[in-house]
Amino acid sequence: MCDRASLKHKKRIVIKVGSSSLVHEETGMMDLFKLEQLVRILCDLRNQGKEVILVSSGAIGAGRKVLGLNKRPSSLPVKQACASVGQGALIALYQRLFNEYHQISSQILMTKHTIIREKSLFNARNTFDQLLDMGVIPIVNENDTVSTDEIEFGDNDTLSAVVAALVSADLLILMSDIDGLYTDDPNKNPNARFIECVYKIDKSLYDMAKGAGSDFGTGGMVTKIDAARIATDSGCDMIISNGKDFRTIHDIIEGKNIGTLFLAHKNEDFDLKSYIEEGKRH
Ligand code: GLU
Repeated sequence: MCDRASLKHKKRIVIKVGSSSLVHEETGMMDLFKLEQLVRILCDLRNQGKEVILVSSGAIGAGRKVLGLNKRPSSLPVKQACASVGQGALIALYQRLFNEYHQISSQILMTKHTIIREKSLFNARNTFDQLLDMGVIPIVNENDTVSTDEIEFGDNDTLSAVVAALVSADLLILMSDIDGLYTDDPNKNPNARFIECVYKIDKSLYDMAKGAGSDFGTGGMVTKIDAARIATDSGCDMIISNGKDFRTIHDIIEGKNIGTLFLAHKNEDFDLKSYIEEGKRH
């Protein structure tokens, strides 16, 4: 079992929540209770003196509801229109909830180009640093209306790892719709074992993730391992945990044995831009 005591001392934390953790499964409407809970927990982390960044999906889902579309859109322009409507609605809701605790929040929208272009990478890093310095909680999403790659293949797991690397965060928590990484698909194989700690990301881990096959949300398990590779190579620990109860965020930081922990192993040659340009290397 790996030692989680150090998690308590993490200072700069990125938390990613997926759409499925934010909406009621039956209706696709926002789960206001959970959203309120999430915001309260993040404000409390700020009160503990931590710096917090939230990466939140949900733009397309929220926009679809506002526009009265019954099904999740499949056409790209409709998705982009939904994202454009929904992102505003999502941020308005977050800001209202954060205001309850007098916590300033902001919106940051990014694309792959933000990272690839040196100047915008520099600007984005400075903006994050400045916001964190001012005690703001930035709320990040992909700029879905201009970034077609994101909607077609992209996912916020990778985005959150990129953000963690960009700001030199020391902990990334992916609140997902699975408990963490298993040796095999737990729905099919009763002998599938839960993996509490990953020390090294290699081909065998990717093979296992493919077998485990969890493919909810936009990003599946393989995508999460890709995200872990970016985060851990940049020097940031990463945890995959189940987003069904956000109170576990607190328990994770307290060092309780929840989710799968991928331990950081800083690669001195780490270059975020080349990770993005070269794409997935498994
Ligand atoms: N950016 C998309 C949205 O806000 C979701 C991407 C994802 O869930 O990974 O709807």
